[in-house]
Amino acid sequence: MPERSVRIAIIGAGPSAFYAAAALIAQDDVAVRVDLFDRLPAPYGLVRYGVAPDHQRIKSVAALYEKTASDPRVRFFGCVEFGKDVTIDSLRPLYDMVVFATGAQSDRSLGIPGEDLSGSMSATEFVAWYNGHPDYKDLNPDLSVEGVAVIGVGNVAMDVARILAKTPDELKETDIADHALEALKHSKVRNIYVLGRRGPAQAKFTNPEIKEFGKLNTADPVVLEGELELDPHSAVTVEQNRMARQNVEILREYAARGHGTKTRKVHFRFLVSPTEILGDGKVSGIKIERNKLVSTDDGYLNANGTGEFEELNVGMVLRSVGYKGLQVPGMPYDARKGTIPNDHGRILNPTTGNPIPGAYVVGWAKRGPTGVIGTNKKDAEETVALLLEDIPHIRRAGVDAKVEQKLEELLEGAGCKYVSFDEWQSFNALEIERGKSQNRPRVKFIDIEEMRAAQSEREA
Ligand code: NAP
Repeated sequence: MPERSVRIAIIGAGPSAFYAAAALIAQDDVAVRVDLFDRLPAPYGLVRYGVAPDHQRIKSVAALYEKTASDPRVRFFGCVEFGKDVTIDSLRPLYDMVVFATGAQSDRSLGIPGEDLSGSMSATEFVAWYNGHPDYKDLNPDLSVEGVAVIGVGNVAMDVARILAKTPDELKETDIADHALEALKHSKVRNIYVLGRRGPAQAKFTNPEIKEFGKLNTADPVVLEGELELDPHSAVTVEQNRMARQNVEILREYAARGHGTKTRKVHFRFLVSPTEILGDGKVSGIKIERNKLVSTDDGYLNANGTGEFEELNVGMVLRSVGYKGLQVPGMPYDARKGTIPNDHGRILNPTTGNPIPGAYVVGWAKRGPTGVIGTNKKDAEETVALLLEDIPHIRRAGVDAKVEQKLEELLEGAGCKYVSFDEWQSFNALEIERGKSQNRPRVKFIDIEEMRAAQSEREA
């Protein structure tokens, strides 16, 4: 009898999950069967729910994932929640190895007064809302306000600031969620303040992202010349780092433009930290403190407050200071990093420091929320190489010929009506079809009920 395939469960179906699946089926030393489980009905994680709707080129990577999912050795199970419908204990008898690709589902907070006021939220929530994530469909951000503060100067901050700055016309041919497009049509937002606690040389955004603000239909970028002055350390950074140099050049060009004549303004501010979100029940302003950069022993430049304060008139605050991974039920957790403790992807038992046999992690759950979508390819390949190395040494699950039936029974027992890849593809085709008449890549369904109702209607 030929030895049976190694059965691998991947928890999550975002980019890192698909890169792991692709690496597993790309090798032919070991026969594998790979099942991906995701809480949401749609696969592709952040490609669908994180990447900005006006960045369709980035989303085209989904075609590669689709190819992987269409391989007969790979299956997708949507609407299956790890920790509820399946657990590490219920999967162990069915799979030889488990790979966690659970990402970073939450966000970091600022730890300042007023963060809980209505109108203060994370950029993560706002992004999920405009991208049609089912958990955030009822977020209803109040866009009747004139000013919005975005805290942080990474690419997520760029995304939310740009979506707020664009006109419905600039967004109508994207796959932005219909509820968001409708709300943005009535937006009264005029001033968007993007606040960096350190200087322009330390900004995390990348050149194409900051450049987009110079070409918006009805919004001008506004930069204060004085905030672009570089201290000696930053001058060295700019000299040595091309990305930082070009960011500073683009910002200087914006500063030279002055205030501009367009109705909306995106103010890029540097060397300022929020110290308090103001308001009575609802955000009415934000207090910020001017910073100066102080070099630490290891060469890092810290932003230290100077005691000089300013207030900005805003009715909404979006903190965009980084994502954070949550604890995956039954798995170890590094609360400081928001990751699953691991050694190059082998999950470690925190008590012994040794690898937990057959348990692996990829993507943001492995290394934290950094890097672009493509970064996850190399990252997943590193984990998969170790997993393959470990195969001869693991104790294989006692699966028998009835394993498929047992999985069905497990999901049925959990009351879980999962979405297969075929079913997802029919939802996908319906979304694309809905978009055609509006010249949009797709019109998204928000939740599984909406998807299944549309499918039934089509079949009737
Ligand atoms: P990020 O790049 O790490 O940026 C976080 C920003 O928050 C930094 O400017 C950081 O400043 C600031 N920050 C942190 N704590 C703060 C505090 N307490 N007060 C004020 N500011 C604070 O994170 P991200 O924007 O969430 O992006 C996550 C990853 O996704 C990144 O790798 C990003 O490039 C990627 N991404 C890429 C794209 C794209 O390719 N178009 C789009 C979206 C996201 P300090 O530097 O001072 O810490």
